[in-house]
Amino acid sequence: MVFDKPDQPLRTADVPVPKPGTGQLLIRVRACAVCRTDLHVVDGELTQPKLPLIPGHEIVGTVQGKDGNVQRFEIGDRVGIPWLGWSCGECVYCQSGQENLCDRARFTGYTLDGGYAEYTVADQRFCFSIPDSYSDTEAAPLLCAGLIGYRSLVKAGQGKRLGLYGFGAAAHIIVQVARYQQREIYAFTRPGDKEAEEFALALGAVWTGASNELPPVKLDAAIIFAPAGELVPQALRAVRKGGIVVCGGIHMSDIPSFPYSILWEERSICSVANLTRRDGEEFLALAPKVPVRTEVETFPLEEANEALARLRSGRIRGAAVLVTSSADSR
Ligand SMILES: [Zn+2]
Ligand SMILES: [Zn+2]
Repeated sequence: MVFDKPDQPLRTADVPVPKPGTGQLLIRVRACAVCRTDLHVVDGELTQPKLPLIPGHEIVGTVQGKDGNVQRFEIGDRVGIPWLGWSCGECVYCQSGQENLCDRARFTGYTLDGGYAEYTVADQRFCFSIPDSYSDTEAAPLLCAGLIGYRSLVKAGQGKRLGLYGFGAAAHIIVQVARYQQREIYAFTRPGDKEAEEFALALGAVWTGASNELPPVKLDAAIIFAPAGELVPQALRAVRKGGIVVCGGIHMSDIPSFPYSILWEERSICSVANLTRRDGEEFLALAPKVPVRTEVETFPLEEANEALARLRSGRIRGAAVLVTSSADSR
């Protein structure tokens, strides 16, 4: 499924099977989850994609071929490919454990072709092994919703009372991790979205409310997964003195101006950008222990446009996952 330019549906195309370059794997894609970032790409909000582009960066597949230098994986191994597809290893960020901020980073399904396809190639150093307890479709959302959600959760600190704004793919995973860590979850959903509220309660949130409401207690931290800038002042009002508001998305609408008093008393705002390989190793080791269960809605690969449309309008419960004929959804 090929992206040519914004405001135009993805195009079904036959393209040659890519050849693995130095250090790369050739992967037969089984499943690829659909991320909000994919929407930001196809809607033109992320403005520097490779063109034409095969989107998708939450890929589960099996190794079908490899460059002669690859030692980490064997033919037939099941691997996951995340958003961070390559980093330089040399810049000040790469050398200080912040490869997520690498000046020359390349991103799967954005500046590299991704997983809305039957085959893809990936640098073996940035691929992960997938825990056996997950089927292909269950595992796919772990690779971004899970991973970047996890990075956001770590940024939010150790506080017990955690607010989550936007109850989609990332939140439905992170609520499970947070409960495992004995935290209380306060879930904020679009006003009137009863289905999302019920979903949050079923996953163990202690309170749900509309995003323009205040919770019954002050929160230690809040994570905003929804791409709506107006949530930043709302979340600041919900956190206690010294609390933190973490913006977990790659793009947000403009943040409206707000009185200094809601930031004062050492509240802070930060963003999360991309992921490091360490985030991936940590999260994929933790997920089976929780155990994180992902709820997915599957679509055949060729229905990618429908999956994107449903995600755009908030009509996905959990995560949308595109599947090819080789997927194991158990
Ligand atoms: Zn770098
Ligand atoms: Zn993503």
